[in-house]
Amino acid sequence: MIIVGGGLAGLSCAYELADSGMTVIVLERGDFSGSKNVTGGRIYLRPIRNYLPDLWKEAPLERHVTKEILTLMGETNSTTFELYSDRFNREPYPSYTILRAKFDRWFADLVSEKGVFVIPQKNVKDLIKKNGKVIGIKAEDEEIGADCVVAADGILSFMAEKAGFRQPFHPEHFALGFKEVIQLDPKTIEDRFTLEEGAGAAQLFVGSLTKGMMGGGFLYTNRDSLSLGIVVGIHSLNRREPREEIYKLLDEFKERPEIKNLIKGGNVIEYSAHLISEGGVQIKPRVYGDGILVVGDAAGLGLNMLVTVRGMEYAMASGVLAGRTIKKAKEKNNFSASSLAHYEKLLNESFIMKEMNTYKNSLSILENERLFSKYPQAISSLFEKLMSVDEHPKESLYKTVYQGLKKEFFNLQTFKDWLLFRKM
Ligand SMILES: Cc1cc2nc3c(=O)[nH]c(=O)nc-3n(C[C@H](O)[C@H](O)[C@H](O)COP(=O)(O)OP(=O)(O)OC[C@H]3O[C@@H](n4cnc5c(N)ncnc54)[C@H](O)[C@@H]3O)c2cc1C
Repeated sequence: MIIVGGGLAGLSCAYELADSGMTVIVLERGDFSGSKNVTGGRIYLRPIRNYLPDLWKEAPLERHVTKEILTLMGETNSTTFELYSDRFNREPYPSYTILRAKFDRWFADLVSEKGVFVIPQKNVKDLIKKNGKVIGIKAEDEEIGADCVVAADGILSFMAEKAGFRQPFHPEHFALGFKEVIQLDPKTIEDRFTLEEGAGAAQLFVGSLTKGMMGGGFLYTNRDSLSLGIVVGIHSLNRREPREEIYKLLDEFKERPEIKNLIKGGNVIEYSAHLISEGGVQIKPRVYGDGILVVGDAAGLGLNMLVTVRGMEYAMASGVLAGRTIKKAKEKNNFSASSLAHYEKLLNESFIMKEMNTYKNSLSILENERLFSKYPQAISSLFEKLMSVDEHPKESLYKTVYQGLKKEFFNLQTFKDWLLFRKM
């Protein structure tokens, strides 16, 4: 069995297959698993505990998230909603921040200990096919045969393309993320975010930081670092005149007082950029064929739910489901498309496709740039007015709120936006 790509999807598939008696090889083009993998990131464990029940006790996760923070940014002001919940602070903790360089490397070592061959620095160049069936892969210097190849090679999956599964790329289906990891000592992080020892915060930003373009910012607290990033839709970025460099947006974001004081004194220890899938179920390619399965980002399994980005749980669960399908196919020694179609059935029955279908209209909602400009600004301006006292006698609260809402929200456009939002 050959798995192309040693990220979360590929390693989860390998983990599932490790005790099957089959020879399992993971080929990873990076120097080690985790070296090329980018996420925000926060992982929710509840959806995947049943898929990988034994993994989490020892896993090198960062902080369990007890605080959810949403900041709406205007040009010169911002409004922050903060949620703390005891439920998030009770074991087993529902979600954790994660650093992929650490987690994926650990996971690769674990599957190696279980007998899987994880081979880094191996760039797979092509699939080998015979009579339309995939029978192996071509790397730079060798060809390796296999009963089944699992394409776990990420968002621009070359393997899915070679199998003829991919639809043409459209810029509106992707966003570009830029991220820095900023080192700070744990106590400073806990003081700045008012966290208990070991607890963490997940903060999302929407509004003027992306200058009206579709996207937003994120900040996650790790054990001794912060993950700070900005994501912008490629389509929005292409349309913008004058052109914006996304790394400059991140620099400007870091200069905002809301961020500057949180990262003060920190050292940037990692810098990365990566694509994110925004297309949802509309761009999901075919995920099985004769001798091949496609998992994780390669299978288009990613969602922007506006208040959270999802992809890691889908990668891990789909990897496990592919592993289960391969075990079943092995019992019959049948790796044809009709046998491997079982994977699609499992995917459809899982939380992955249920969520992907629930959020099938998310792209049309995300294309509405007023969500990223007008509304965050209007809410912050209204709140600022409510809180201000100047040389004039203060108006009644009702009048201030009513006038603010009337000006920005009581109109046909907002009503239409609200109707559209019902689809999410
Ligand atoms: C900025 C950003 C923020 C995000 N935030 C979140 C978040 O907070 N929560 C969340 O759940 N998801 C988030 N995501 C999405 C999430 O990171 C992905 O869905 C997830 O990483 C997918 O895992 P994967 O294993 O499918 O792919 P990847 O992690 O991309 O792994 C693919 C692997 O294949 C290897 N590879 C590629 N081509 C070849 C080849 N030809 N030969 C050999 N190896 C190859 C790569 O080196 C890589 O290791 C975010 C993504 C980004 C970019």
